[in-house]
Formats: sequence, C-alpha cells, structure tokens
Amino acid sequence: MKGVAILGSTGSIGKSTLDVIARHPDRFRVVALGAATRWEALLEQCRAFRPEVAVLLEPLGAARLAQGLRAAGLTTEVHSGAEALVTLATWPSAHTVMAAIVGSAGLLPTLAAARAGKRVLLANKEALVMSGRLLLEAAAAGGAELLPIDSEHNAIFQCLPAGRPGVLPGGVRRVWLTASGGPFLRLPAERLASVTPAEACAHPRWAMGRKISVDSATLMNKGLELIEAHLLFGLPPGTVEVVIHPESVVHSLVEYADGSVLAQLGNPDMRTPIAYALAWPERIDSGVESLDLVRQGALRFEAPDRARFRCLALAEAAALSGGTAPAILNAANEVAVAAFLGGRLNFTSIATVIERVLERLTPTDVAGLEEVLEADRTARRLAAGFVGEPAGACA
Ligand code: NAD
Ligand code: MG
Repeated sequence: MKGVAILGSTGSIGKSTLDVIARHPDRFRVVALGAATRWEALLEQCRAFRPEVAVLLEPLGAARLAQGLRAAGLTTEVHSGAEALVTLATWPSAHTVMAAIVGSAGLLPTLAAARAGKRVLLANKEALVMSGRLLLEAAAAGGAELLPIDSEHNAIFQCLPAGRPGVLPGGVRRVWLTASGGPFLRLPAERLASVTPAEACAHPRWAMGRKISVDSATLMNKGLELIEAHLLFGLPPGTVEVVIHPESVVHSLVEYADGSVLAQLGNPDMRTPIAYALAWPERIDSGVESLDLVRQGALRFEAPDRARFRCLALAEAAALSGGTAPAILNAANEVAVAAFLGGRLNFTSIATVIERVLERLTPTDVAGLEEVLEADRTARRLAAGFVGEPAGACA
C-alpha cells in the first residue's frame, strides 16, 4: 500500500490522479491533499479520500475547510500557506508525491519532495524549466524517483530503455515531441490578435487547466516541453524535434541510431501517464478506453509554423541559451498569460512581452536556487511593466 500526496488536487491533473487512485484502493492510499483557494472542492475530496492532512494556500478558506471537516467528523489536519505546501510535499507517510500545482508556485514543494526522496510524479513542468538541473540534482541527492506525467515525456520515458534521469541512453538519435497545434492551428494570422480567453481555453483534444490551455494555444507549452525533454533525458542541443500531430494519438516518439522509431499511442487522456507513473514499473487499469485504430483512421504529421506561433521559437532560443534563460522565459510567460486570461493583454502580445523581457535580460549561470528565484523575480517585474500592471508574487 503506497501513500500518495497530491499537490494541486483540485486541478485537472489532481482530479485525474484521484480518479485513478479510486480504482485501486488495495494499492494506493491518499495521505495528503493540497490546493490554492477552492476549499469546498478540497473538502469534498477529503470526505471521499480521508487524507491525514489537507493544505489550502489561502488561510480563510483553510479555516472554513477545517470547520467543514470537523462537522463531517473527520480528523484530517488542516494547514495553510506556502510553507505548509512544503510540509505536504515531504509528508512522512507519502511514498509518492504528485506535483500538479500550476506554475512557479510549485517549485519549492516539488524540490522539497525530490530532496525528501519521494517518488515525484512531475506534472508541474514549470518547476523543472525554471530550476533546470537543480531539480534533477535534488532528486539524485535525495534518492527520489522523478517520473514524467506530461504525456509526451511519459511517452518518451516508455520508449527509452531504463536509464537515469538526465542521462541519455546510448543509441538514441533524436526525440520527436508531438503537439496537437491547439485551437488556433488553422486560424489565419490576422485573426490571432482578437481571440478570446474562452476560445484559447477550448482545446480540441485535452481538457486542462486554463494556464496550460493558453500555453497550448500559443505553442509555449511545446516550448516548455522541449526544455523539459532536454533536461529529463539528457538530450544534447538539436536532438528534440517538434511535430504537429492534430489527432493527439501518438504522444511522442524516440528515434534510434539504426533508424528505428518507437512511439507510444493511446487515447488522449492524462489518466494513462498518471497510472503508468503511479504503478511503475507495473501496469494498472487507468479507466482509459482502448484506442480504436480503425475508427481513428488517418494520423497526420506536419511542421510547426514558428512565424505564427512565436512562443515556440522563443522557447527554443531560451533552451539554447541555457542558464537562467528558461526561468526568465517561464516567468514572463506566466505574467503574460495571466494578463491575457484577465482580459488585459491580447493573444499575440503574449509572445511580444516574452520577447521583450528576453531581449532586456542577460541570462546568467545557475549555481543555486537563488539565481533562479532572482531571474524569476526580475523577469516578472519587467513583464508586468510591459503589460502595465504590478508584478505578481513569485515562487
Ligand atoms: P489546474 O489549473 O487545473 O490546477 C492547478 C492546481 O494547482 C489546482 O489544484 C490549484 O488549486 C493549485 N494551485 C494553483 N496555484 C497554486 C498555488 N500558488 N499554491 C498551491 N496550489 C496552487 O492545472 P492543471 O491543468 O491540472 O495543470 C497542473 C500542472 O500540470 C501544470 O504545470 C501543467 O502544465 C501540468 N500539466 C497538465 C496537463 C493537463 O492535462 N491538465 C498535462 C500535462 C501537464
Ligand atoms: Mg504535454
């Protein structure tokens, strides 16, 4: 019986994780749940899964949650604040920690889980993009298992021979990251500036949180994933290719020196990678329907349009620059996407804000966490200035 802690339990990945866990009461026990503000949703989850501890970032909501738990006769401990998320991530009875907080807010708890030697299921790609090798080093030092939840990286992980995180197994020529292309794949360039947050969040294949949905619409998501792939699998520059695959059935591919290409396929449903990582190296039921290849029919592949989706090119450049460049890119993107979702920035200006921030800041080497947090703070302040609003809080 493995204890599982979920950071970001009320989100899209958090809920899918609970769905898989509920199918295997003999294997997994939910011991800790954490979220940002929606106390009613967290209370509901506590009622269903009876964790030892629940953390809500926001203190007023945490007080209401505690009241609700008492009224329901539950003994779940309640804590609030960012520090408490670190406590949750290192909870002693948790063998596995699902890192599914969105954005840089997930960095410190994810690092803590890695240092504490947990099995870390990494959905929170922003944490890895920001901190780069620091997260891999923390996992190595703590004896943690870092398993990718992002469907593409989970697919690559499934197609690679067993290895160590950050070290490329021999014989791999390159990796192909597939991208659905998002809701605006065929939209003419001149219409992009006027798309709405609701249109951007209406992803054709995946139901996801709002931030990653916008990232998918700009192709920044694929850019962040390219950086994630380089780090996780130790891939040298120039060995990760992005290919548009509108059906989202092939989740990514690994090409070997002998010309073999291995792919992982399945219906687009995050419960597959979640189940894979929860039970790894075993395979368990995830609740995902069998892929009907005949009904699916043709699978298409095409080159991404970097002129229309500039965020992809910006992320590729940041991957090449290295050092704090990915942290700068990520912070500027978080500020710009929040402004777009709030109706204060148009869609095409997301790339413009990020580009201007990257032009203004010179990346430095990353010796430790302080450089990462400093780059995050500075990029956030600058991006907020370009958007015309005060800087949001950083990790
Ligand atoms: P979401 O917006 O649906 O959920 C985010 C969760 O994080 C919520 O539980 C929220 O309460 C919590 N949260 C947000 N800010 C927080 C903070 N400051 N402190 C504590 N908790 C906070 O997002 P999602 O779609 O589930 O995505 C989560 C992460 O997984 C993201 O990094 C995303 O890129 C990654 N991911 C998601 C998918 C997907 O299909 N949804 C696929 C691959 C990767
Ligand atoms: Mg993905």
